[in-house]
This record gives sequence, structure tokens and C-alpha cells, in this order.
Amino acid sequence: MMCETCSKVPSSHSFRKLNYDEKHAWFYSLDSEASDKDSDRIKSHILNELEWYHTTFPEGKWSWVFDSKDYEFNMNSMNIFLVFVDILKIYKGTLQKIRIVNPNDTIRSMFPTLVKMLPDRVSEILEIRE
Ligand SMILES: [Zn+2]
Repeated sequence: MMCETCSKVPSSHSFRKLNYDEKHAWFYSLDSEASDKDSDRIKSHILNELEWYHTTFPEGKWSWVFDSKDYEFNMNSMNIFLVFVDILKIYKGTLQKIRIVNPNDTIRSMFPTLVKMLPDRVSEILEIRE
């Protein structure tokens, strides 16, 4: 169940359960604290976590706190963002909310563009917390 990369180096990826029960799970990520920036391995890590929750609690819904503290945008973060879009396409049916916290100027300036790339329903349940 655990991500192979994280089982060797636990700080590799940042997407984890904050708390959960059979009805709902809060997941949290802080991209800037993750040491492994490989988008395929990040995808596998996140899918692993979401699959576990949805398999264990078939009625469960989920929400995502995206901590954008120290977020930097570069070519690779675009790849990672596209991974997020793929994952949201798969799991948008049970997604309740995405909450962006600690937004910086990079996030604020890119937000309108990024929102357009998200699957339909997802952009409506996205919020930024200042
Ligand atoms: Zn991992």
C-alpha cells in the first residue's frame, strides 16, 4: 500500500491523510517539502493514497488542502500540475473541496489559467484561503 519511493525516503512526496473516517478524508500536500519532483512517481504516490481510502471506505468522500507555501513555478511544476489534473479526472466524483492555503503571488497570478485546465466540477469546489 505504501509508496515505494517514500518507504525508502519518507520525505520524498507530500500527499497524506490529515484525518479520515468512513465518510470523509482530508488530504494535505505541501509541494515545497517534497524532495522527489518526478511527476510519474508523484502520480503513483497520490493514486496509491486515494485508492487505499476509496477501497477501505467505499462510501467515503475526500477533500484536498493544497498548501502552496514557498511554491515555485517552473517547467517541472507544470508536469506535476498536469498529474494533478489527471488524478482529479479519476477521483472528481467523490471530491468535496480543494482548498489552497498560503497562496503566494505566483499562485495568485497563475490561478485563472490553472482553473481553466481543471475538470468541470472541480473548478467550482476550489477555494483560496488567504
Ligand atoms: Zn511517495
